[in-house]
Amino acid sequence: MIKLFQDATLTEIEEAMQRAYAAFLIYRRTTAKQKAGFIRAVADEIEALGEPLIEVAMRETHLPAARLTGERGRTCFQLRNIADVVAEGSWVEATIDTALPERLPLPKPDIRNMLVPIGPVVVFGASNFPFAYSTAGVDPAAAWSAGCSVVVKAHPAHPETSEMVAEAIKKAIAKTGMPEGLFEHIHGASFEIGKALVLHPKTAAVGFTGSFAGGKALFDLAAQRPVPIPVFAEMGSTNPVFLLPDALEKEAEKYAKMYAGSITGGMGQFCTKPGLLIGVESQGLDTFISVLAAEIRSILPAPMLHSGIAKAFRTKRAEVLGQEKVVVEAETSQKYGEEEGIPSVASVTAAQFVAITALHQEVFGPFSLVIKCKDAAEMQEVIGHLEGQLTCTVIGTEKDLAQAADLLFSVSLICGRLILNGVPTGVEVGAAMQHGGPFPASTDGRFGSVGPHAMKRFVRPLAFQNFPMPLLPDELKDGNPLGIWRMVNGNWEK
Ligand code: NAP
Repeated sequence: MIKLFQDATLTEIEEAMQRAYAAFLIYRRTTAKQKAGFIRAVADEIEALGEPLIEVAMRETHLPAARLTGERGRTCFQLRNIADVVAEGSWVEATIDTALPERLPLPKPDIRNMLVPIGPVVVFGASNFPFAYSTAGVDPAAAWSAGCSVVVKAHPAHPETSEMVAEAIKKAIAKTGMPEGLFEHIHGASFEIGKALVLHPKTAAVGFTGSFAGGKALFDLAAQRPVPIPVFAEMGSTNPVFLLPDALEKEAEKYAKMYAGSITGGMGQFCTKPGLLIGVESQGLDTFISVLAAEIRSILPAPMLHSGIAKAFRTKRAEVLGQEKVVVEAETSQKYGEEEGIPSVASVTAAQFVAITALHQEVFGPFSLVIKCKDAAEMQEVIGHLEGQLTCTVIGTEKDLAQAADLLFSVSLICGRLILNGVPTGVEVGAAMQHGGPFPASTDGRFGSVGPHAMKRFVRPLAFQNFPMPLLPDELKDGNPLGIWRMVNGNWEK
């Protein structure tokens, strides 16, 4: 394969980080309206790239045009949505405790607090979302919104797509008069480049979307720096689905068909793909498995994102299928090639699942494992052995849910998003969405990487004590010149 873009040298990385830091110092002092204007301009410039962008992304990722067009729309919506929140301004959480000079035994000072940006953010995107979790994806959008500059390490699985989007961002910078280093683009298919970016003294935080191995490696690296920095890594998840008995008895067929689509859509290459399906042994569960198996057999194999992902899928699937008492329930009836995903589903008893941790891992691709429990108590035991998840789903009728309080409470402890009677794939972009979860779904389950709250990862609170009005940021001045929501002496005011 011809290498289109050379790996960045250490000198180039040094220069990029210095430019990003210089730009941060300027951008930090621009108004919220200017920041929002720049972020909206990025969306406009990406749209202006038109069909050639989709064609390049199709060639690099094997994803179909409709999916990529939808993802580009989502990415531009994401940028504009976060720009609106920045322009409105209340997100800085301005908090004011006014002075009480007469207080005894000591006078109370005037203290005013707001969120401020932390500095240059290094971003690593994932291969499965070449727009939405890549060069102008959610992490850059969140960092710019917060007031930070961004250094993106282009994903080596879609470097040309990344380069086109980078050019669009540079145009938006020029058109809105922003400092050049507000966005830096680094190519490189070597871990050394990622390492150098994370270790650079000017890097203030890292946004990562990708595998557990990658995210954890970068997290550990950042923690060992002389000045440790946060790494917000959004990683893999098995997204367990709990199939309750009455729903299985009444609607096994409907849910089996729904789940065949969710497991294999996009060749299962979603972080929210349902990887574990858990039910109590019954006629209903048998029907669910046999309908699911029939559906899976009819699904055609298709090329995966790149050969690395295809290889990892084969290895991890084989690791699961190689465990004792794991039964292959179905696999696509069509012939498949080396680089293609193999739609497949297997099953195992809950006792085996609990005993073998190799079965708990994410198999990234069109594969899911059904776990057969003896009874409700064993289902609870399975939950006790699950790690942190992006999502958990419960499928149940009213009758099921009337008895499911303990189960719902247990699953709420291990996930970021709890879904009822639906599928976990498909992540709505909005303020109420939570896309993140307890470790190892992400390195910091207090935050998420979808929607405007994602910017909270790249800020810190700064308190001003006894400051005269002219020296305070507008957000904290008396009279509320920006008209934002603020907490003043314990009360919300606008
Ligand atoms: P990946 O292999 O981890 O790659 C992500 C990025 O990190 C790439 O730029 C990669 O560079 C870099 N990287 C990985 N390991 C590294 C290391 N040890 N040191 C330095 N850099 C490193 O992930 P992917 O295959 O692109 O994406 C698939 C995975 O992403 C799946 O597990 C999926 O569940 C997860 N994902 C999660 C979310 C979420 O929101 N939680 C969303 C989408 C995808 P190189 O290619 O040069 O190694």
